[in-house]
Amino acid sequence: MILTIVKYPEPVLSQPGEPITEFNAELRKLADDMFESMYAGQGAGLAAQQVGIAKRLVVIDLSGGKDPAQKIVLVNPEIISSEGKLYETEGCLSFPDIMEKVVRAAKVRVRAQDLDGKWFEQDGEQLLARCFQHEIDHLNGVLFLSRMSALKRDLVKRKIRKLQRENEW
Ligand SMILES: [Zn+2]
Repeated sequence: MILTIVKYPEPVLSQPGEPITEFNAELRKLADDMFESMYAGQGAGLAAQQVGIAKRLVVIDLSGGKDPAQKIVLVNPEIISSEGKLYETEGCLSFPDIMEKVVRAAKVRVRAQDLDGKWFEQDGEQLLARCFQHEIDHLNGVLFLSRMSALKRDLVKRKIRKLQRENEW
């Protein structure tokens, strides 16, 4: 089922997610629906906040649904180490058509649970590292807007207000 992806400044996007404690069919269904919704929006990652649910769940697929081996589900994830820095363009399904450069670590290691509640660790570099950081930020109620320079942030906010006035946001 394709869920509605909420846009900035929907309050749920600023809300830290609750830890997930039940690893049941409902959680599995939510993850499936999030993958479907992310593919429909042509995104590489999606956090539960973006479908209006403040819980610590993320789905990622850098293949856009073409390679099932690249599907990643992170439950209750945290970044346990990071190194390097990259300044590259980033987008977000909650900010349609907004692309801005954001500084992120070049390499991170994530610790998370899978849909069965089993803990695992995964390394990410480049785009995957960026995705891990962007999505885990969502779980903490942090948007990529706040990772931009103050100047860029103001420009983006102004652009969104203009689109809102024109009913195009
Ligand atoms: Zn996002």
